[in-house]
Amino acid sequence: MNIYDTYEYDVLVIGSGGAGMRAAVAAQESGAKTVVLSKCLLGKAHTVMAEGGIAAALANVDAKDGWQPHFKDTMFGGKYVNDWRMAVIHAKESPEAVRELERWGAIFDRTKDGRILQRAFGGHTHPRLCHVGDRTGLEMIRALQDRTVALGVEVFTECIVTQLLMDQGAIAGAFGFFKSTGKMFVFRAKAVIISTGGIGKIWRVTSNSWDCTGDGQALAYNAGAELKDMEFVQFHPTGMVWPPGVKGLLVTEAVRGEGGLLKNKFGERFMSKYDPKRMELSTRDMVARSINQEIVEGRGSEHGGVYLDISHKPAAYVKSKLPSMYQQFMEFADIDITKQPMEVGPTCHYTMGGVKVDPETQESTVKGLFAAGEAAAGLHGGNRLGGNSLSDLLVFGKRAGISAAAYVKKTNNLLSVDPVKIAQYQKDLVVAFDRPGKETPAAVHRDLQEVMEANVGIIRHADRLNKALEALKDLNERYKHIHVDGGIGYNFGWHLYLSLASMLSVAEIVTRAALERKESRSAQTREDFPKMDSEWRKKSLIVKKVNGAVQITTELLPAMPEELRQLLGDEAK
Ligand SMILES: Cc1cc2nc3c(=O)[nH]c(=O)nc-3n(C[C@H](O)[C@H](O)[C@H](O)COP(=O)(O)OP(=O)(O)OC[C@H]3O[C@@H](n4cnc5c(N)ncnc54)[C@H](O)[C@@H]3O)c2cc1C
Repeated sequence: MNIYDTYEYDVLVIGSGGAGMRAAVAAQESGAKTVVLSKCLLGKAHTVMAEGGIAAALANVDAKDGWQPHFKDTMFGGKYVNDWRMAVIHAKESPEAVRELERWGAIFDRTKDGRILQRAFGGHTHPRLCHVGDRTGLEMIRALQDRTVALGVEVFTECIVTQLLMDQGAIAGAFGFFKSTGKMFVFRAKAVIISTGGIGKIWRVTSNSWDCTGDGQALAYNAGAELKDMEFVQFHPTGMVWPPGVKGLLVTEAVRGEGGLLKNKFGERFMSKYDPKRMELSTRDMVARSINQEIVEGRGSEHGGVYLDISHKPAAYVKSKLPSMYQQFMEFADIDITKQPMEVGPTCHYTMGGVKVDPETQESTVKGLFAAGEAAAGLHGGNRLGGNSLSDLLVFGKRAGISAAAYVKKTNNLLSVDPVKIAQYQKDLVVAFDRPGKETPAAVHRDLQEVMEANVGIIRHADRLNKALEALKDLNERYKHIHVDGGIGYNFGWHLYLSLASMLSVAEIVTRAALERKESRSAQTREDFPKMDSEWRKKSLIVKKVNGAVQITTELLPAMPEELRQLLGDEAK
């Protein structure tokens, strides 16, 4: 059967967030015929929700800033299991990445003398986040989108990639379908860039958008690529806790950056007990654990969070610096944040782990397959600092695009795609329509989220992680009995069913990796191994699919040059 459309390109970018668009711009500028495929509409990727800013050591507000302090902060934030080479590249190249975005039309808030304004943020020693109020992601996406379209990059929106196509161990393209019609496609390409974002929809309380279902991590894993650091999932300390319909929605760290204070029900600024030096601007893992502790020990707020208060600042200032937060609380919770405290609690937010990539080129361990942005691993180690994701997207998205285009130049022809395999993918895609079964995608997703929330959250223990693995077995069984109703055009249930395959396999990977890392470090807190272990400081966990099962091995982190080690000081040893 041949009921799919075939397209041919040099570079295929999966995802239209900040990483995908920056990669596409770079690939097209480097002479590769480039296409972007995106589950969402153009301009609606998760990046658009980014609020607080882009971390880059421009030193506009504090002249003492530079790449060295940024590198140091990033490594400290990640508790030194970051790929130090990525952290150096990121710290050095972020300032130019921001200026470039400005040249393409992004309009940032300004200092009094007209330079890009930078704000303080958790874990950053100097005010470093270039921002546009609390709507930075919107401005970033707008500028990148304009650039992408102006360069003539072709973009196909509302389409879902479900398989990567391989030929003799190298990438040959991708298979999937258009959401509106269900029409299937094969995109043949010499290089593919995965920029599909995070995995947050696996948890019930999450700040992540609908598309964050771990598709890219699962696609790469199924294609034989290695994943890394998958145990490190960031729970942002401040999500909304009330009303229930918006539980998990992010309350930007910019609130604390602009002077917001965290208090328990007794009005105590509890961060003084946990990190008296950094207080509210401690790293996210530390603040999230501290909030969790306050709640567990009965000092939480009315609806099971803690209080975040910015009402001591002038109302006009709050409204101009945090317009989205003002509106969000007004509309959803009937709270005026210029007068009343917010109620906040931890929410699943970011994936430090992802596709293992070469720090210079962003190429994965599969030939011709690249990854950038939240879908890739390495830069953030055990915990990401706020603002470091947006600069990551720009710096490593650009590198991925340039490297993919260079790879294409060395590759002669498009590799072949196997018609037998395509026929199988076509059958697999629609199998749930035809089989009987009482299970629904929504029920399996809900139960998956409950399992992960209860057992693979902020505080972990081998007993709960093993319980999660047992429950995941059961959910995988139930998955095989899901029946999908309706047609193939715009069928949300069907889309959820397909992304559940990614979510279930990524959930297992995260859980197994969390079980394997027998220590507490950054975003991984183990009740049964409460201490940081210097042996674990030296290695990463690598995940690969071997004979259809999750295989986990350890890999030594690359040795750091002495001058960088000295820069980091004794703490890093
Ligand atoms: C509310 C909020 C505020 C934030 N604020 C900040 C901030 O101020 N600073 C900061 O540094 N970070 C911030 N972050 C984090 C940051 O926004 C994300 O980490 C980042 O935007 C991820 O970008 P990305 O390009 O990797 O992926 P995304 O922006 O998530 O884009 C992924 C793309 O892949 C597509 N896709 C996924 N699967 C498929 C598939 N199977 N087929 C086709 N397409 C697919 C999606 O449709 C989408 O287009 C924030 C996050 C949230 C939730």
